[in-house]
Amino acid sequence: MDKAARKAILRELREQERARWWATLGLTSAQLDALHEHILANLIDCCSGELELSEQWANQVGVDWSRLEQALMELGGYCDCEVEANVCPD
Ligand SMILES: [Zn+2]
Repeated sequence: MDKAARKAILRELREQERARWWATLGLTSAQLDALHEHILANLIDCCSGELELSEQWANQVGVDWSRLEQALMELGGYCDCEVEANVCPD
């Protein structure tokens, strides 16, 4: 397999991964961006160890929190900083 073909396959896999994320979360990419922004803007020092900010955001924009919470945990986001891809590495 040549380099270009391998690259195309990798890109395809990444796309599928992203699509899977959004499908699991039930969010659009724009909503996911907004969630990230909300957490970034409100995460002071370290997070509370809970999904406080994520829940706040879901309530603000009218996203079904129980569904989103379950999806975030399924994807390894057990607290706000984990959702925010290791804003606080601990
Ligand atoms: Zn955390």
